Amino acid sequence: MRRTVVHGGTLATEYGVFAAHLVVEGGRITALSDDDAVLANADEVIDARGLVVLPGAIDPHAHFEDPGHTEREDFTTGTMAAAAGGFTTVFEHPLTYPPVTTVDLYTAKRDMAAEKVVIDFGLWGALTAPSLPHIEGQWREGAAGFKAFMPRSDPSYPNVSDDEMLEGMRTVAGLGGLVLIHAENDALLHGNIGRLRAAGRTDMRAHHESRPPFVEEEAVHRALFLARHAGVRVQIVHTSTPVSVGLVAAARDAGVVASAEVCPHHLILDLDDADRLGPLACCAPPVRARAVVEGMWERVLAGEVDCLVSDHSAYTLEEKGLGESDIFACPLGCQVIQETVPVVLSEAVHRRGMTLDAFARFSATNAARILGLYPRKGTIRPGADADLALWDLDAEWTVDPQAQQFSKNPWSPFAGRTIRGRVVRTMVRGETVFRDGEICVAPGHGRFLSSQDAPVPAPA
Ligand SMILES: [Zn+2]
Repeated sequence: MRRTVVHGGTLATEYGVFAAHLVVEGGRITALSDDDAVLANADEVIDARGLVVLPGAIDPHAHFEDPGHTEREDFTTGTMAAAAGGFTTVFEHPLTYPPVTTVDLYTAKRDMAAEKVVIDFGLWGALTAPSLPHIEGQWREGAAGFKAFMPRSDPSYPNVSDDEMLEGMRTVAGLGGLVLIHAENDALLHGNIGRLRAAGRTDMRAHHESRPPFVEEEAVHRALFLARHAGVRVQIVHTSTPVSVGLVAAARDAGVVASAEVCPHHLILDLDDADRLGPLACCAPPVRARAVVEGMWERVLAGEVDCLVSDHSAYTLEEKGLGESDIFACPLGCQVIQETVPVVLSEAVHRRGMTLDAFARFSATNAARILGLYPRKGTIRPGADADLALWDLDAEWTVDPQAQQFSKNPWSPFAGRTIRGRVVRTMVRGETVFRDGEICVAPGHGRFLSSQDAPVPAPA
């Protein structure tokens, strides 16, 4: 069996930060050791001296627009960009074209994507009214969770009424699955949009005024209330206010298995950035005022936000440009997957004092637990898949999308920003998939992660 040794790195995983060699055999970690004897007879020695080795980051929330809008992104370019940013696993959302609302559409997308990905992947199923009869079938084909929109989104992917959401939650609860919820109050935000439009407002600030924090928080509250009633595990996607995170924490205290995600744009950008960036920072929920962003950081540093996610949405610049004259015509989402982990690590670890073990939990371990992948993924310990990101933690670089990105649409709301900490190598199951700016594997290297996979035994 091929034996690889990652030599002399500082391992930063959820249970501690320490120097050790890492032995990899058959794609799995087989030993952590400080004994140089493990270097003998290695087929490959990877020099990690001076580097920090984190568990490969896990992104539970990306949109690759494949099938249907592959001029935006596809499973190859999307996972290449993810690998370059230190991700080793990504879960992709069902809002593709057509949306994945039936079992057949789910399996077709799964089999197509498996040929194209360079890192491991999962696919969420759909929780919409038309797809309610397909939830169990999608679960059997590998969907670990099901996505619902409380507000209107793309017309092809209907948002749910409270009744439809509760019915879906009950079905998913019976399977032991997860419900993922985009929580914004549809009536409140569309009432606001109507009033703003009537007043002739179509500017960037109008977008923010249409979706103030309470529009999100009311829906988070309602979703958690219904989840408690249904007894289902629930993840509130892209929370953007500390009140939302506090509601999730309170639900957890009350016995609901609830978790919260956060995106890099909600941690890094504020309203001033949004004014500067215009449509490139137009997303839902919107980028918030600085005081709200600081409140989110308090929650992140307290360990109350479970998962760092990208919510990667690579619209073309032409599509984003629709927002220049009318912000309500702007497609919602940011092109961020390649910079998600570096930009947040730079801020969290270097500027705000987050420990590396806390960062490992935030970027990998918590997601692995929620997705049912732990301890196969999201950790560095014997028996785990050798999914690793090697970081030069002090390297400074500036985001230059055209020169750096693998996305089909190289732009970024973080363009021009200086980041401290760079991914020099990403490994998926022991294989180097990204190194020094290059992708090193062919499409198809990634494997599908199914809700039906047998769990890896927990460590002793
Ligand atoms: Zn999303």
